[in-house]
Amino acid sequence: MPEGSGKICPAAKKCGGCQYQGMPYERQLKKKQERTEKLLKPFCTVYPITGMEKPYHYRNKVHAVFDRLKNGTVISGVYEEGTHRVVPVTSCLIEDEKADAVINDIRGLVKSFKIKIYNEDTGYGLLRHVLIRRGFSTGELMVVLVLGSPVLPSKNNFVKALRKLHPEITTIVVNVNDKKTSMVLGDRETVIYGKGYIEDVLCGRTFRISPKSFYQVNPVQTEKLYGKAIELAGLTGKERVIDAYCGIGTIGICAADQAAEVIGVELNRDAVRDAVRNAKRNQVKNISFHCADAGKFMVQMAARGEHADVVFMDPPRNGSDENFMRSVVKLGPKRIVYISCNPETQARDLKFLTSHGYRARGVYPYDCFPFTGHTETVCLLSNRKPDTMISLY
Ligand code: SAH
Repeated sequence: MPEGSGKICPAAKKCGGCQYQGMPYERQLKKKQERTEKLLKPFCTVYPITGMEKPYHYRNKVHAVFDRLKNGTVISGVYEEGTHRVVPVTSCLIEDEKADAVINDIRGLVKSFKIKIYNEDTGYGLLRHVLIRRGFSTGELMVVLVLGSPVLPSKNNFVKALRKLHPEITTIVVNVNDKKTSMVLGDRETVIYGKGYIEDVLCGRTFRISPKSFYQVNPVQTEKLYGKAIELAGLTGKERVIDAYCGIGTIGICAADQAAEVIGVELNRDAVRDAVRNAKRNQVKNISFHCADAGKFMVQMAARGEHADVVFMDPPRNGSDENFMRSVVKLGPKRIVYISCNPETQARDLKFLTSHGYRARGVYPYDCFPFTGHTETVCLLSNRKPDTMISLY
């Protein structure tokens, strides 16, 4: 039985991260099911949402913004919703507990090492954010210190002290963000300990993840989601497959042994570099990765008259674009497997695809983000052309 939620978070009101704070888990799932149905049922059947057994501490990526109160106390936490005021957070119901413990200890070290906290208004000071990533399967732990300028005084001693408190830390990276921006990470990075990335195991494959690469935050649910996505693709070993918005190549690499060829496309350079290494690491030889805007890449593929049998698409929250979808329609794959973290933009994109020769065959929601209002979905679409009709699942 999934656990209910008697737990209450002290930061809940101000943090705004958990819209479903205090609500029993079964009820959260019901609400997500209803919302997904409202948006996607007009296109096809929406199957029951897959929830978590233990919907706590699932986030493998934790971000904390640092601030200094007038009395000198160093705090870390999240921005109060819609503001730049920092709400202190020392523990969180959904974040990885190890990550929270590391952040709490960094707060202590900042004081003893007299590291100045960055002031957003004046631009003075050093430490802005800390980002932690943890490989749930491997236990590897990455700490990214986001600084307003490149030099961390007493760097070696700081690393030593932090690793003494947390020997499980496998890599520490300094990221420089000297801009007035709401983006957490800047462009420049220096590895000050370890290899500069962590590895995690997903669906039996090992993936390296760099600080700026996208990786699903809830690996337990992601395995189920990818399993369904690959099942829906109905691969037989003969297909030419596109993995669009591929990140570090997870879906394509997991599907490659059931396809003839996989082509991955992704905009983020670091993620593409990870994807290439991930293919090698897992001895997948029938996959290639391209660093490009997925829409532009697809336009070029369509213009060259290329074909694809299956397209996986997994765009960011704002969904895909018309460039991309027009080209998918031109390429005419038998199946499109559309994975989305935002059913609203997925509904918009399904509207386009279903009025351009595709039929939605089923939506499968997954609760990858318990206690928040977000839902992940995977939708199968098939080409309406008679020669490519597929049997119903
Ligand atoms: N399929 C991957 C990543 C999904 S997240 C996984 O499951 O892990 C969406 C990805 O789309 C991110 O990696 C992001 O960098 C990438 N992206 C965003 N806009 C893009 C664009 N216009 N073209 C290609 N990739 C894009």
